[in-house]
Amino acid sequence: MDANRTAYLETQLQDLHAQGLFNHIRTIDSPMDARLVVDSQPVINLCANNYLGLANHPLLREAAKQAIDQYGIGPGAVRSIAGTMRPHIELEHRLAAFKGAEAVITLQSGFAANLATIPALVGRGDVIFSDQLNHASIIDGCRLSRAKIVAYAHNDVDDLRRKIAEETEYERRLIITDGVFSMDGDIAPLDQLVAVAEEHNILLMVDDAHGEGVLGRGGRGIVDHFGLHGRVDVEVGTLSKAFGVVGGLVAGRQNIIDWLRQRARPFLFSSAMSIPDTAACLAAVGLLQASEERVERLWSNAAFFREALQGLGFDTGASQTPIIPVMLGEAPLAQEFSRRLFEAGVFAMAIGYPTVAQGKARIRVMNSAAHSQTDLEEALEAFAQVGKALGVIR
Ligand SMILES: *Cc1c(COP(=O)(O)O)cnc(C)c1O
Repeated sequence: MDANRTAYLETQLQDLHAQGLFNHIRTIDSPMDARLVVDSQPVINLCANNYLGLANHPLLREAAKQAIDQYGIGPGAVRSIAGTMRPHIELEHRLAAFKGAEAVITLQSGFAANLATIPALVGRGDVIFSDQLNHASIIDGCRLSRAKIVAYAHNDVDDLRRKIAEETEYERRLIITDGVFSMDGDIAPLDQLVAVAEEHNILLMVDDAHGEGVLGRGGRGIVDHFGLHGRVDVEVGTLSKAFGVVGGLVAGRQNIIDWLRQRARPFLFSSAMSIPDTAACLAAVGLLQASEERVERLWSNAAFFREALQGLGFDTGASQTPIIPVMLGEAPLAQEFSRRLFEAGVFAMAIGYPTVAQGKARIRVMNSAAHSQTDLEEALEAFAQVGKALGVIR
């Protein structure tokens, strides 16, 4: 094979290195928990979406093992041919009951859930109104649908109204927003979006990946948080974050879920969640239903950490949730901050352009119910020490 055929990739990789944008992906040598061994070094984990500490929970581990003994591992076919097993159906029923939705369908991931849902709801000749900061999987789902995509300013309901007034020639219309925005930790004004959708008779979809298991009573999600049951057409979620496993879900009206079972392409043409994943998710729903204590601990940990960071003099941006950005400005400073935290035994990710706007680089702190008070206090000491050394705080 002629190596020249991929020479352009070599150039692109070298460019990434030259610009300091090459992502060196770290390897975890321990279970996903409050503390990790990363590249052989013990660290406090402030990076994961494991909000409730379920990724290594003994009940989830046990449920996965038992399900393997009963059903094996792989589904062996796509859901619509011979890949729907009893635990899949049971999980969908349990999730619908938990969330207070008419029906639920599960997909392989939150990413797949967006690719499944959006093109099944709208197509050529339709229009989608999409928050400017929506997640990449929403953007890709919108593109796959071939509908016209109109971005509105982030969380700006007035701008959304203006955009709706400008786009009059479309039959079907869909408004899409993230529930919790993953880089800033702010919450979509879903109550106001519902009002707009109802006023104009437009379909409304929310992707609650960072709100599933986090927002609402006992982690029932953003629709529950705002008390909007039955008024949001489609709620996409993930089982890969607070639920501690891997998978995606769509909750909504029965006819929407029935339609997805007939037409959603990742459901029809890609195999389902594995049996141990499905069983572990069932155990996670059981834990969430049995107690709200874990969700409460997550929020009290996050409030403690945010207030302590602010007390030290850090700028925590627009955070309203357990996602806390520590705003630093330029990307090289954020990189250096993250590197020094790691040396001090704290694993927290630097995020810069193009994931966030230029000049808005930050450290993103992810809180978890798994953290003890000692974990948080040790991490704060490292933030204080590195912040002073780099002249970010005094
Ligand atoms: C993380 C995330 C996803 C992807 O979820 P996976 O289950 O990891 O595929 C989708 N949408 C949003 C808004 C997310 O934050």
